Amino acid sequence: MIKFLELQKVTAKYADEIHAAVNRVVDSGWYLQGEENKKFEADYADYIGTKYAVGCGNGLDALIWIFRAYVEMEVMNPGDEVIVPANTYIASILAISENGLKPVLVEPSMETYQIDDAKIEEAITEKTKAILIVHLYGQCAYTDKIGELCRKYNLKLVEDNAQAHGCKFKGRRTGSLGDAAGHSFYPGKNLGALGDAGAVTTNDEELAKIVRAVANYGSQRKYVFKYKGRNSRLDEIQAAVLDVKLKHLDEDNAIRRQIAKYYIEHITNPAIITPKVKDWDAHVFHIFSIRCEQRDALQQYLTENGIQTVIHYPIPPHKQECYKEWNGLSFPITEQIHREELSLPMSPVMTEEEVKKVVEVVNRWK
Ligand SMILES: *Cc1c(COP(=O)(O)O)cnc(C)c1O
Repeated sequence: MIKFLELQKVTAKYADEIHAAVNRVVDSGWYLQGEENKKFEADYADYIGTKYAVGCGNGLDALIWIFRAYVEMEVMNPGDEVIVPANTYIASILAISENGLKPVLVEPSMETYQIDDAKIEEAITEKTKAILIVHLYGQCAYTDKIGELCRKYNLKLVEDNAQAHGCKFKGRRTGSLGDAAGHSFYPGKNLGALGDAGAVTTNDEELAKIVRAVANYGSQRKYVFKYKGRNSRLDEIQAAVLDVKLKHLDEDNAIRRQIAKYYIEHITNPAIITPKVKDWDAHVFHIFSIRCEQRDALQQYLTENGIQTVIHYPIPPHKQECYKEWNGLSFPITEQIHREELSLPMSPVMTEEEVKKVVEVVNRWK
């Protein structure tokens, strides 16, 4: 069986360094808010190209804390609107509604699966305060047009960089393109921890300070509480592991690109649509997405032939029970993507043989 993702192998690749880092923390007796956090935050901010990186519990929280900070700063107020792609992972949308803000769904482009910048302006109202772009599947969603719209309407630009660590737009990393960005280090992400972890990057000092406080009971000084916060901190062990893996991120992303290139060049089955890549720096292939009208039959065939695949995602957010109020809405492009999308095995530890086998089996399907 060719697995969709073999996490054990991903970790084993850097096992010596990871074990040394974990042991260092275990032996230190210091497990939260210490030197490992400081070092990873400094290294990650440097890598992304922002002044600040603030560690937190996970990627969903990172996004929640960004909007929470804007509410605390009174840049946004409950009831204000945030534009977000309709085909994103649910977490992007939860982070908005969690803060009493209103997610406004905008269709993606069928070419890129990223938010369609031609459809954003018509969704802007007097209540719109931000655009949350999501670099879905590892591809940069930012466009110059989105930047212009933010300036024209005085909107904050927030990035969901959970799937795109290391991705670049004209030489700048995603996560540094907007006003603030949320990052997830869920184990399966391109930069993955050995458990839950996340971070916020920004150049905004005030936002960074508020994020740090709300993720730590709302406290900036011990036992003094400025906000009604929560506990969402980054473990020292996870920070130490992430600092090891960060050093190897670019080389791992380069392998993902090689695999993607091979898939795109060699998958010739006319029933299958492979991603269109214009700028290889702007895609880190967290997920290698193909589309196929007979998606479910293709998935079953691949399973029977020893290839594990995953659907990203089977049900669009507006059809989920948690957003009942949207169940009657129609987003045809989003719905088509959810009907046709299939993700092939992709990871920096796939062997050449495995990649070739996937191509061969996919091409044989009729
Ligand atoms: C994984 C992911 C998140 C959430 O991150 P967690 O660390 O799992 O909370 C948010 N947005 C996107 C697009 C993701 O893929």
